[in-house]
Amino acid sequence: MTKEFRRSFFPQTTDADWDDWRWQIKNRICDLKSLEKIFSLSNDERDALLNNAGQLAFAITPYYASLMDRFDPNDPLRITHIPVTAEMESCAGEEIDPLGEDCSMATPGLVHKYPDRALFLATNICAGYCRYCNRARMVSHKEQAVPQSNWDKALEYLRKHNEIRDVLISGGDPLMLGDEKIDWLLGKLREIKHIEFIRIGTKIPITLPQRITNDLALILKKYHPLWISVHVVHPSELTSEATAALGRLADAGLPIGSQTVLLKGVNDTPEIMKKLMHKLLINRVTPYALFQMDQIKGASRFRTSIRTGLGIISSLQGHTTGYAVPKYIIDPPGGGGKVQLVPNSVVGREGDYILLRNYQEKIYRYYDPLSS
Ligand SMILES: *Cc1c(COP(=O)(O)O)cnc(C)c1O
Repeated sequence: MTKEFRRSFFPQTTDADWDDWRWQIKNRICDLKSLEKIFSLSNDERDALLNNAGQLAFAITPYYASLMDRFDPNDPLRITHIPVTAEMESCAGEEIDPLGEDCSMATPGLVHKYPDRALFLATNICAGYCRYCNRARMVSHKEQAVPQSNWDKALEYLRKHNEIRDVLISGGDPLMLGDEKIDWLLGKLREIKHIEFIRIGTKIPITLPQRITNDLALILKKYHPLWISVHVVHPSELTSEATAALGRLADAGLPIGSQTVLLKGVNDTPEIMKKLMHKLLINRVTPYALFQMDQIKGASRFRTSIRTGLGIISSLQGHTTGYAVPKYIIDPPGGGGKVQLVPNSVVGREGDYILLRNYQEKIYRYYDPLSS
């Protein structure tokens, strides 16, 4: 698929260029004109791009564009990246900062919401912009680098707060930073003795797998234990290129977990979700989180009911490998943090017995006297 796409739209491009992440970035599709050369757009997509007054810029790497259907506006990957006019609408309950992150900013770009862990927003730039981004308010604008002074203030805060044992580096996408910057930041974090757990949240192995070079893997490897949370939403994202990129990370000893946003029209069926989770396991990625869509402004077209999410979890739990079942998480507005949603398995009590529902919906009794 990718080969044919290249022949049609980037005929002069050499293998070396295509496989070079900086070439992919330089040749990102960022406007209507270049998008129209490749895709046959719906009127609505065209209108949205013409009036792109939204908060979030538009960008797709040539590689990721090659995975999309050029003729079908409902293609699951396409709807995650190509804007439509519904993005300009705002629905009940939707907000610009639904997670209340701005209220928990300890320093610019450092969110300290949970006592023992902090979220380090290292950059505002991504390889491509997901239309359901919950940080649309702060990413993509002019793609300016985060000033070093923000990093310095965040590091100073982390040094002072020895209750923080876990730092999640996110953004934007931290792996959009150059090797030297990543090396520098991880080095500084590792100098802080009370930080025992570091993870990087990224979609780069999926949208720009060329970025996961052997050199990058060698840098990351120096800072173990370092974990990766990869953002993946659909089985068709797990191409041979993505598999190779995830393999380089896994071979460097990095435990990889997944984060998936539950998205209408993309992955909101048990069949697609199961296929995705199975493919992740095959790629040595442990399914970690399935996120209920945040109440982010302009993204209501992606939102499913919570019943749908619980149904998907029920369709996995007990029906397939336990490792293939992610936690279903919702982060309700108000800044209170994440809440796990679980299908009810404790269905009642009969005297000293608790009644449990199994994956086949059959009821089993377990002796559990209240006096014990
Ligand atoms: C999600 C999140 C974390 C990490 O939470 P885990 O449950 O450990 O994955 C940390 N800080 C903030 C602000 C978050 O939103």
